[in-house]
Amino acid sequence: MNAPLVDYHIHTVYSGHAASDLTVRAVIERAGQEGLKSIAITEHAFYSLMGRANLEQIKREVEAVETQIEVFVGMEIDPDYAYEGRLIFEDFDKGELFPVLAGTHAYPGIGKGWSESLDLTLPDKRKIYNSWFRLMEKVIENPLVDVLAHPGRLISQNGIVEEFSTYVLRDFDDLFTGAKEKGIAIELNEGFLSRCPTERLKKSYLDVICLGIDKRLKLSLGSDAHRLDKIGGKRFSIDMIEKLKISPEQYYRPVKQL
Ligand SMILES: [Zn+2]
Ligand SMILES: [Zn+2]
Repeated sequence: MNAPLVDYHIHTVYSGHAASDLTVRAVIERAGQEGLKSIAITEHAFYSLMGRANLEQIKREVEAVETQIEVFVGMEIDPDYAYEGRLIFEDFDKGELFPVLAGTHAYPGIGKGWSESLDLTLPDKRKIYNSWFRLMEKVIENPLVDVLAHPGRLISQNGIVEEFSTYVLRDFDDLFTGAKEKGIAIELNEGFLSRCPTERLKKSYLDVICLGIDKRLKLSLGSDAHRLDKIGGKRFSIDMIEKLKISPEQYYRPVKQL
């Protein structure tokens, strides 16, 4: 097992929908107990919840905790669905937040959240599928983005794709080629894997990650914890990592720029 002891996708009480004991201090202490060496707090910005004020507050709280662990403050930001390529929150400078995760949590053009159960017709599914890839192609052009959070999760819901089959992989191939050119990493997201709607989808997702690895994309590891006991949790990710041949330098690491 050569996976690094890191977790670059952790939420806190500031998300507004995480466990009430998921304070910044508790996150850092729990990460220490789990033996992690490096973490990132990556709070959501998907509606007006996470503004500059919350970000400053998180930074202050991180600084107030004494720890041996390396703690980064990043963010998980939704694309601006009205202006493809922009993020919904861009009130920061390149190099200020690590990592900037770009994550889609709403169906483009529909305005419903990713976890809602929808009764979609085949044309609806095609439309969402195509819009999601088109949106992602624009998102990778945005120089603020470091990592694509849980790539493919949105289209794995509500039967939009039944599995990550050959034709889906062709579209990921184009997306990942672009991501490689822009130096954008992809994420292996434990939260997605643990809630993957079917075994078939989960199994086939390995091919998506393999494709990224073959293209020499960096792989970022993240629990997507919304509860303390999820921090550093990598049960499904470890299964996958053991099947992949990843060299240590292929894992994503936030690097602070001065
Ligand atoms: Zn997310
Ligand atoms: Zn998240």
